[in-house]
Amino acid sequence: DGHWTDEGDWEVDLLDDGTPMGEEPRAVVAVVGRPNVGKSTLVNRIIGRREAVVEDVPGVTRDRISYDAEWGGRPFSVQDTGGWEPTAKGLHQSVSRQAEHAMRTADLILVVVDATVGATATDEAVSRILRRSKTPVILVANKVDSNKLESDAAALWSLGIGEPRLISATHGRGVADLLDLIIETLPTKPRDDIQRTGGPRRIALVGKPNVGKSSLLNKLTGDERSVVHDVAGTTVDPVDSLVALGGKTWRFVDTAGLRKRVITASGAEYYASLRTRGAIESAEVVVVLIDASQPISEQDLRILTMVEETGRALVIAFNKWDLVEEERRLQLEKEIDRDLIRFPWAQRVNISAHTGRAVQKLVPAMETALESWDTRVSTGRLNNWLRETTSATPPPMRGGRLPRILYATQATNRPPTFVLFTTGFLEAGYRRFLERKLRESFGFEGSPVRVNIRVRE
Ligand code: GDP
Ligand code: GDP
Repeated sequence: DGHWTDEGDWEVDLLDDGTPMGEEPRAVVAVVGRPNVGKSTLVNRIIGRREAVVEDVPGVTRDRISYDAEWGGRPFSVQDTGGWEPTAKGLHQSVSRQAEHAMRTADLILVVVDATVGATATDEAVSRILRRSKTPVILVANKVDSNKLESDAAALWSLGIGEPRLISATHGRGVADLLDLIIETLPTKPRDDIQRTGGPRRIALVGKPNVGKSSLLNKLTGDERSVVHDVAGTTVDPVDSLVALGGKTWRFVDTAGLRKRVITASGAEYYASLRTRGAIESAEVVVVLIDASQPISEQDLRILTMVEETGRALVIAFNKWDLVEEERRLQLEKEIDRDLIRFPWAQRVNISAHTGRAVQKLVPAMETALESWDTRVSTGRLNNWLRETTSATPPPMRGGRLPRILYATQATNRPPTFVLFTTGFLEAGYRRFLERKLRESFGFEGSPVRVNIRVRE
């Protein structure tokens, strides 16, 4: 399945190690839809390979993975969100979130519906969102395995997102026509998304109300010279601010909301959390402000979790440090040990937006976090690491068998996402061990890291 070459690089016939540097950016096709409609099957069809995708940690959101694909000589990427397993209650929300993310980042959205089931309430909710999409949308009616099902599929016109394209992902029926349509619809120039911009890096300042977000922004932009009005070759969203810090220009996203106070109304909390989510998704690095003078709250932890799940680089800024005295400092250390145990990799700084204390430490922390977030580990280095690590500590037996890890590859960066090809399930505990070891060997301070498992059939 692969062998060591003289260069020490692992040759993999199944996965490309991401798009090589310097290559033209590829247009992104995002595949969204409810669980079980056949998204992964369709993605595997499009990329032309078969592999079982296995997630053995319940409740863990599998990250979006991009695969390289090609049709009619045109390369593009396919983004799979197939492993999403939300609870029944969170289904609408989680699928809607996929759609919203795709609207912001993809060049084309395939929304997959199960034609044998028909339009469900979730399909309708997602369609309502996608009707406002500026990104082109193709409605895919899957599981049309035979002519008999075609009339049922026609009912999907009612979703109001255009003509249902009938396919059978398992049999391949209609897939070639769908691919032709994808190539026709894809814009020739992929959008300028955060994965590819060479412009100023994007920062979100987030945190619960009154932690000092606008005070910090004011402090950072207080010096008029730090406010940048124009950067050659970049269009600035009017809600963003360009700020010169540490000799570089940075783009603070969605600062309009920080400057203009939104009047508190019913539902304000909901909108605040939507806005936080939107800012996090638009950013590359997120500075989460926490009020150091107050106990760490549930809301703080929810925001941190959002950053982790969205896969952004993270800096935690404990603000209002001017109010922190010895007793509170000791208490805070205990809270950090107890509550932030899931984020030991986050960069932390103690600042005061009020006095300006240590705000200059934010820039190096953001730079470290972004560097980790951008990291690519070569497949050769990664597999040397894997061999050493697994021979020192092999995975535990499962069902009387010893699973073998065949090889590893880094599927994407931003954040670093690794795929391990194995002969069987890996215990959650062992996966965590591997992630810890990855961090020990390669760093990744300030960035989430993903480890996905694929069991080879
Ligand atoms: P996902 O959760 O949307 O990624 O869905 P999967 O790709 O995992 O597919 C869910 C189930 O539907 C699997 O059992 C597939 O074999 C089945 N499936 C997918 N596509 C088709 C199809 O075109 N026809 C039929 N009959 N079953 C399909
Ligand atoms: P936001 O809601 O997160 O934008 O918070 P604001 O920037 O409006 O700050 C809320 C309150 O906290 C204001 O009264 C600020 O003056 C105060 N504040 C912000 N940063 C600090 C700080 O570092 N120290 C102290 N003592 N107060 C601060």
